Amino acid sequence: MPFHIPDRKEIVRAIGNTSGLTLPLQRALVPGDDFDPIPLPHPGDWLSIQQEPGQSFDEFAGANPRRPDNRKRVLYLMPLGEFPEGSSPRLMLLKECAEAYFMMEVKILPSVKAERSRFTTRSNPVTGNFQILTLDVLSYLKKRSPADAFCVLGVTMEDLYPGEDWNFVFGQASPGSGVGVFSFARYDPAFYGNGRERDSLELLNERSCKVLVHETAHMFSISHCIYFHCLMNGSNHLAESDARPKHLCPVCLHKLHHAVGFDVVHYYQKLFYFSRSAGFDKEARWLSRRLEHILGS
Ligand SMILES: [Zn+2]
Ligand SMILES: [Zn+2]
Repeated sequence: MPFHIPDRKEIVRAIGNTSGLTLPLQRALVPGDDFDPIPLPHPGDWLSIQQEPGQSFDEFAGANPRRPDNRKRVLYLMPLGEFPEGSSPRLMLLKECAEAYFMMEVKILPSVKAERSRFTTRSNPVTGNFQILTLDVLSYLKKRSPADAFCVLGVTMEDLYPGEDWNFVFGQASPGSGVGVFSFARYDPAFYGNGRERDSLELLNERSCKVLVHETAHMFSISHCIYFHCLMNGSNHLAESDARPKHLCPVCLHKLHHAVGFDVVHYYQKLFYFSRSAGFDKEARWLSRRLEHILGS
């Protein structure tokens, strides 16, 4: 069945009942003009290939989603291999990004060498580039998870593959075990042999932050979004993920609030300061508009 764009009634149903929430949060969850409709998929786009029914707030909340608690409350990033300055996203930026988006304590673990003795590796049969087997990394992360970890996310500039029959994979996760690994290698225009331009690093930082937030949200049992053009939309190629906004729609924001329980004004303020310091100016303007709306000014 081809994808159809949900109508307002379906969207309101997916957002769920907001009547018991604070007034600012109720305002934040109204499906207004600041949220763009999900675009109709072009051939090759995620929803032209995948049939996704969507996950309403009620479905999410009723399925015992993973949530941080007093015992498992830290989001860990584990760098795998080198993050050379000038051709990698800054690890501190990734940390600040996760802190702002998930309102949780984020710690960077000591970096682990991408060694053949530790992980299965190969040269890609077509391109010849070095690759690491994701399943080995996931079991390593599981073994090395600190006791207070809500999740441990391996981040790397090395290329990954999920099995011999595959060319490559951007990342792989085992959300039930709270581990995942994501490569930013292919978000660098230089990976494809294009020259590194002045704004390549900005693009790499921006793409890496977006993928980090999208993938981390899956750790909270938040599935792909079909209700708006949203950071949680599935993506099948780089142009599609580049087009995704950097924010969550009201359906996904309601889910994240259920998971981490923030004050929405504080949340958007924190995101605003992060976006401004990261140079995500368009996003900072969007957040400032949302804050005005939520505060009723
Ligand atoms: Zn996803
Ligand atoms: Zn959404």
